[in-house]
Amino acid sequence: MAVELQTKSAFAIAQRRFDSAADVLGLSDDTRRLLREVKRELTVHFPVHHDDRSVHLYTGYRVQHNINRGPAKGGIRYSPELTLDLVKALAMLMTWKCAAVGIPYGGAKGGVVVDPDALSQSELEHLTRRFTTEIALLIGPEKDIPAPDLGTGPQVMAWMMDTISMHAGHSVTASVTGKPVDVGGSEGRQDAAGRGVTYLTLEALKYLHVGDETPTVAVQGFGKVGSSTARLLHEAGLRVVAVSDSRGGVYNPRGLDLAALDEHRKFRGQVSGFKKADDLSGDEVLELPVTVLVPAAVEQQITERNADRVKARLITEAANAAVSPEADAVLHERGAFLVPDILANSGGVIVSYFEWVQDLQAFFWEEEEINTKLHHVITRAFYEVLHASVNKRIDMRTAAYVLAVQRVANATTVRGIYP
Ligand code: NAD
Repeated sequence: MAVELQTKSAFAIAQRRFDSAADVLGLSDDTRRLLREVKRELTVHFPVHHDDRSVHLYTGYRVQHNINRGPAKGGIRYSPELTLDLVKALAMLMTWKCAAVGIPYGGAKGGVVVDPDALSQSELEHLTRRFTTEIALLIGPEKDIPAPDLGTGPQVMAWMMDTISMHAGHSVTASVTGKPVDVGGSEGRQDAAGRGVTYLTLEALKYLHVGDETPTVAVQGFGKVGSSTARLLHEAGLRVVAVSDSRGGVYNPRGLDLAALDEHRKFRGQVSGFKKADDLSGDEVLELPVTVLVPAAVEQQITERNADRVKARLITEAANAAVSPEADAVLHERGAFLVPDILANSGGVIVSYFEWVQDLQAFFWEEEEINTKLHHVITRAFYEVLHASVNKRIDMRTAAYVLAVQRVANATTVRGIYP
């Protein structure tokens, strides 16, 4: 898999997806040139003191793809596999995601090339504060608002917000989302991405008139998004039969005891070896005969290599860019229904938007209100995309891109940036 990622530029794939939508829309060459490039890309190299007093040099990035519809918005990823190319691709994806669900943001992404599990808490804090200071010239409530992604979470966001606040001399809570509730975070943010995945999975099953009495589910990735999704789909009455993490998977056709599995994972650091299920390889989890497959780990997991072995009727793409363009075609040909990433995992950025609004107003909402608003925004977007897909006879991903690119192009035109 690593070889595949190295040989295929993630940004080139993102541009290819944009080009397909631009073709459907007949976008002008000027607008096309502007939107297929990123606006700003910042690379920083910075030192961090480790606990043993050694000093290590780290590399980080912050990229803003487009800010024509509002401030830039996008996650911070800590991963040893991070590259500028991938950050550019993910920043572009954020522009389309915010536009597809109609929230007033542009797209950004950032992160540090680091394995967060290899650092102590204090090393992680030093790294986060130094990185935040390095990219601070781009960050702020009206400019660019980071959020958690792979390898980061509420604690990292609290450190980022605190660092920006130290520079400003007062608390700037709206500068970062995905914070703990104690420092201006939103109720419901922790589960937001998984809750959005769950709402759209249920909506898609309704649309598909799936006859299975109890639809079965396999989830790849048991982190923030994967574990919320598994729990919420189980609560909604589906049977979660398999999950995996980076070390392997587990399968029980009668359904997994998710609470016990979570305890096992906390204790063992992995899902494999769970007594009440059989061990499987990560690849086997993707190929199980289930109703719903939720890839919720990393990019490029369903490709031309394995797409013809994926049996699920519905694929809800929780992880960004989990399915390659070649695999899209194979799945479409087979009649599988795909809820694309920019729609499927938009619950995270939708509730981040609610968090930002609450911080700016210093007026906070109950979780029930947040979940109701999330349901409204994400379901409306789903049906807008579905109608475009049916009316224009294009697949769900192209339809989501067409709506999103059209909105960003309209903003570009009406601002007078390009006619
Ligand atoms: P996380 O770090 O909390 O969890 C990632 C999980 O994926 C871990 O369980 C890890 O072991 C597993 N994993 C990694 N490589 C794997 C592989 N090859 N096979 C199986 N499992 C593997 O990250 P997260 O926040 O849950 O993010 C997951 C995906 O969702 C990413 O694509 C991210 O961009 C996207 N996303 C996250 C949010 C959010 O709010 N956290 C919002 C929108 C989208």
